[in-house]
Amino acid sequence: MSSNRAILLRYHEIALKGLNRKWFENCLAENARKLIQRELGTGTKIGIHRQRGRILLEAPWTPATQKALNRLFGANSYSPMRKVPTDRSEISKAALEEFSAFVKTSGLPKNFRVLSRRSDKVFSETSMEIDAWIGTQIQEAFPSVSVELKKPEMILGVEVHFKETFIWTEKSKGLGGLPVGTNGHVLTLLSGGLDSPIAALHLIKRGASSSFIHFYGTPFVGPEILEKIEELTLKLNHYQPDPMPLYIVPFGKIQEQIALASHPRTRTILYRRMMIRVACRFANKIGAKALVTGESLGQVASQTLENLSTINACATLPILRPLIGLDKDEIVLAAEKWGTFETSVKAAPDCCTLFADRHPATRSTPGSAEKEEAGFSINTLVDQALESTFQFSSKAQL
Ligand code: ATP
Ligand code: MG
Repeated sequence: MSSNRAILLRYHEIALKGLNRKWFENCLAENARKLIQRELGTGTKIGIHRQRGRILLEAPWTPATQKALNRLFGANSYSPMRKVPTDRSEISKAALEEFSAFVKTSGLPKNFRVLSRRSDKVFSETSMEIDAWIGTQIQEAFPSVSVELKKPEMILGVEVHFKETFIWTEKSKGLGGLPVGTNGHVLTLLSGGLDSPIAALHLIKRGASSSFIHFYGTPFVGPEILEKIEELTLKLNHYQPDPMPLYIVPFGKIQEQIALASHPRTRTILYRRMMIRVACRFANKIGAKALVTGESLGQVASQTLENLSTINACATLPILRPLIGLDKDEIVLAAEKWGTFETSVKAAPDCCTLFADRHPATRSTPGSAEKEEAGFSINTLVDQALESTFQFSSKAQL
């Protein structure tokens, strides 16, 4: 690919990270490279350069590249652009050529503006004067196009740096957030409904990488749920430059033991406490620093404040609940936006309703839960769960 073309990545938040800035930028650039290579093939050469609050990617500009960049957390926007030496006549010539190329592919805009930015004050003119200088020249070549500063149909961007100037006519919005991998590792409890995948995405968006764990009600529920969980993991991994594993805990037999010693109305909470214990131990094993769940306050009986406290009481790691204040319709919108909706609404029985009452208790205390838990050996069940946990791969024997 010609070396005077590159993709310009812009970011805001990571610029604020002081001394860590370089590390954040490298992580963003590497993530972009991995996501693009996933689409274009691992052999695709992608050059990376950093320049004053910008990242330049030397990669082919194709629909697949855009697909990759639309999954990149940490970038606020991106543009395919042309680089020219910072020299008046070079800039004028290239700006006019890029404008003409835009007209060829997208048609003549009614109006436009030039938006310039000077990272280095090479020229004596202000940005506004540079806008006027380049804009006038474009209008001379395309007299029917007017200048509109407030709501232009098209923007021609010019970024003047010390040696090179960047010129672009296309700008796409990025996902924002922080580069995945810059904020630690979490373990998401993935249950196959609408909520938990969106909870995972909230953490991934803020720069955490997430592994996944599913409690599988085998032999009382069939393998369809695993297909669904696998599909959700794949979709969530679209946003993780390093795809993260899914772990399965065979859980039905453990639930059966709990059910034998408990009241149907409190079983859901006891199952959840057992899941949290197992997930905390497992998280320690894989270096995850927090659990993530899709709970939202009051959404179902197990999600009252009392029950959430009873669940928290047996946790040895923070439980992050990014959806706690969201309504179901907000979660549905998010699932549509992030592409998990279709998979989440597929029918497949989950384990939580096994042997449980249709109307679980809404009030519990850690004390009342512990009393019931005295009826079975918690440690043995946790050990048993951890011993049988396996990393899911579609080829694994189920
Ligand atoms: P979701 O939409 O994520 O399935 P939900 O609204 O069905 O959630 P619950 O069934 O009460 O809510 O589960 C609350 C949270 O507990 C889930 O969001 C998930 O994080 C975790 N969870 C529940 N069941 C399982 C399971 N079988 N495996 C892993 N995590 C689970
Ligand atoms: Mg569920």
